[in-house]
Amino acid sequence: MRPALLDPLFAPAGALPGVGPKNAKLFDKLLDRPRGARVLDVLFHLPYAALDRRARSKIRDAQRDAIATLEVRVAEHRPPPSPRSKAPYKVLVEDETGDVELVFFLANVEWIKKRLPVGATRWVSGKLEMWDGRLQMVHPDRVMDAEELARMPAVEPVYGLTEGLYPRVVARAARGALARLPPLPEWIDAATASLLKAPSFAGALGALHNPSAPGDIDPAGPAATRLAYDELLANQLALLLVRARMRGAVGRAHVSAGRLAQRIVEALPFALTGSQAQAIAEIRADLGQPKRMIRLLQGDVGSGKTIVALLAMADVVEAGRQAALMAPTEILARQHFERIRPFADAAGLRIALMTGRDKAPERRQGLAALAAGEIDIVVGTHALFQESVAFRDLGLAVVDEQHRFGVHQRLAFAGKGEAVDLLVMTATPIPRTLVLAYFGDMDVSALMEKPPGRLPIDTRAMPIERLDEVVAAVGRAIAGGARAYWICPLVEESEALDVAAAEERAAALRQFFGDAVGLVHGRMKGPERDAAMDRFQRGETKALVATTVVEVGVDAPDATIMVIEHAERFGLAQLHQLRGRVGRGAGRSSCLLLYKGPLGEAARSRIEILRETEDGFRIAEEDLRLRGEGDVLGARQAGVPGFRLARLELHGALLRLARNQAEAALANGERLRGEANRGLRLLLYLFERDEAAPLMEAG
Ligand code: ADP
Ligand code: MG
Repeated sequence: MRPALLDPLFAPAGALPGVGPKNAKLFDKLLDRPRGARVLDVLFHLPYAALDRRARSKIRDAQRDAIATLEVRVAEHRPPPSPRSKAPYKVLVEDETGDVELVFFLANVEWIKKRLPVGATRWVSGKLEMWDGRLQMVHPDRVMDAEELARMPAVEPVYGLTEGLYPRVVARAARGALARLPPLPEWIDAATASLLKAPSFAGALGALHNPSAPGDIDPAGPAATRLAYDELLANQLALLLVRARMRGAVGRAHVSAGRLAQRIVEALPFALTGSQAQAIAEIRADLGQPKRMIRLLQGDVGSGKTIVALLAMADVVEAGRQAALMAPTEILARQHFERIRPFADAAGLRIALMTGRDKAPERRQGLAALAAGEIDIVVGTHALFQESVAFRDLGLAVVDEQHRFGVHQRLAFAGKGEAVDLLVMTATPIPRTLVLAYFGDMDVSALMEKPPGRLPIDTRAMPIERLDEVVAAVGRAIAGGARAYWICPLVEESEALDVAAAEERAAALRQFFGDAVGLVHGRMKGPERDAAMDRFQRGETKALVATTVVEVGVDAPDATIMVIEHAERFGLAQLHQLRGRVGRGAGRSSCLLLYKGPLGEAARSRIEILRETEDGFRIAEEDLRLRGEGDVLGARQAGVPGFRLARLELHGALLRLARNQAEAALANGERLRGEANRGLRLLLYLFERDEAAPLMEAG
C-alpha cells in the first residue's frame, strides 16, 4: 500500500489552483493520462525553457532581439486606417530615451484601451525587435501595472502545452503542485548526493518550476540531474528486487558432462566462434549451480545465437530434464525447428515443433508426449509458456525475443513454481546503458564476434527516381543466380496499405522477372506465408517482395541482395536488422537503400551511419543518440516502464551510480526494511515502480 504521506501527490490534477473541469481534461491529454492526470504528473511535467525577464533598462540601452522588461508611458494609440483593414493596432510607448511601438494583430481593442490608456505608466515585457527602422514589441507577453510587476516571476518557465491550455494555467498548476509536496526524507546516499551536487528532491522541483536563473532548468544541471537520478534509482531498485525474488526461488543444478553438446559440436559444419564458446561457458556455469539462471544472450543478427541455445538445451536434457525454445512468430519457430533438428538428431535428442496451427489430434498427442517426457526439446511460440503446457520436467526455457519481454513477464516467470532456468535471446544489440536500465536484473552474455568468413555488405543509397536502373541490376543478378529481398514501404498507420504497396511492387516486378517473384506479407495466412518463404529459401523464387515480416530473423543464407524501398521511413535499428538478412553466406552481398528525397536531417544521418558501419553495437548507440531512449527498445509499446525524467542519452552515466546505491541498499538481503530505508521505499512509490512494491518487506 502506498504510504498516506504521498496521497496529496496522487490526488487528481483538477484539485490544483486554476484547474477547472475543462482544463483538467486538457491536462489529461497533455500529460498523456487518459485515466486522469494527477498532481504528481504536473510536478513531473518539467519546463523545457525559461524566459528571462530580468533585463531592465531604458529603451535606448535595451538589447535588440531579446526579452526586455521596460517601464514606459503610453504616448499614443494608432488604430488601423479602417476597421476592416488587416493592419495591426499599434500603441506608441516611450521613456525619456526613446520610444517603442507595441504591435497587436487581430487586436482586442477593448482590452488594449483598458490596459494601455494614454498617459498611464506601464511595464511591458516581451521581445524587442527592429522592424523597418523602428523599435517594436509584437504582442508583448505581459502588460503590467506596478502591482502586477511585483508579482511577475523574473525568470518564467516555459512548458510544453496542448491546444487550449494556456501557459499561465500550467505554470500556476505547477506552483500549486509544488506547494503540495510533503516533507520527504533524503534517499540519495550522502556520497552520491555530494558528487552530483544534488539539491533536495523538493529543492530540485522548486528550481525547475520556479527558476531564479535560466540555467536552473538546464537538463544537465543539478536540479534535472537529481530528478533523473531519482528515477534511475527507483528503476534499479525495482529491477534488483525482481531479481532477488527470482533468484530466491530455489534453483536446480543441471548436472551434465556436456556429452550431448559435444556430439552436436562435432556435427556442426563449422567451429564455434570465441564469443559463442564463451557464452556457452557462462551459461554452463549457471546451469550447474543450484540457483536460477536469468541470462540475456545478446548478439547482432547472424551472430549465431541459435546454436548457443541448442547447446545449452542439450546440457539440460543430458541432466534428465526438458527444454523449450520459444520464438515470437510461427515462421521463426518453424525455422528454428528446422535449423536445429539435424543437429538435435545427431545427438539423439527428441525434438518437436508445436504451434497454433497443429491440428487438434496432433496437438493432443504432442502435449501427451511432453507430459510423459517423450519429447526432450519443444520449439514453439511464446504462447507455449502462457498456455500452461504441462512438461514432465522443464529445466530450461529459451526465449527468442524481440524486446517484448518486460519486467512484468519476468515476474510472471518468477511466479511459476518450478525453478525453470531462463535464457532470453535478443537480436538487436542493445546499448550498454539500456541493458542496465531494462535488463538490470539479468546477467548478460554478448556475442560480439560474427562467424568468420562473412564479407562486408556493400551498402548504397539511391533516390527512388533510379528505380529502373535498380530493377535492371537486380534482374542481371537474378539471371546470374542471385537471390534478392525487396522490402516495401512501411506505412505507419495501416497494415492494409503496406500490403497493397507490396502487392503492387510484386506485380510490377513480375512484368520483368515473371514467376521468379514471390511475395510475403503480414496479412497472409500462416501456411501460405511459410510456403512463400520455403520457395524462396529453396531458390524456386529468386526475388522475394516482403513487408517487414522478414525483419524478425528469417534466414535464407543464399540471398545476397537487399533492396529497401523508402528507406527514409525506417528506423536505424530496423534498417540494420533488414540488412542483416543478407551477408550470411559465402557470396558478396549488397544492400540498396532507395529513398524518396528530399531527405530530412535525421533520415540522412541514419542512411549515413548505415553506410559507414555494420557494427550493430555502434549502430545501437547511434540510434540511441538520434532518437533518445524513447523507443530504441520499442519500450513504451512493450509495457516496459519508460522514463519520464531521465533521458538516457544524457543521463545514462548516472545508471552506474544508481545501480551501486541500489545494490548497497539491498546488499544485506533486507529488502528495504527499516527506518533507514524509508526514503527509498517512498521513492519506489513516487516513481510508481509498483510491480516491485509487493517484493519490499514491510518496514
Ligand atoms: P542469430 O540468431 O544470432 O541471428 P543464427 O543463429 O541464425 O544467428 O546464425 C546465423 C547463421 O550463422 C546460421 O546459418 C548459422 O548456421 C551460422 N553460424 C552460426 N555459428 C557459426 C559459426 N561459428 N561459424 C560459421 N557459421 C555459423
Ligand atoms: Mg536468430
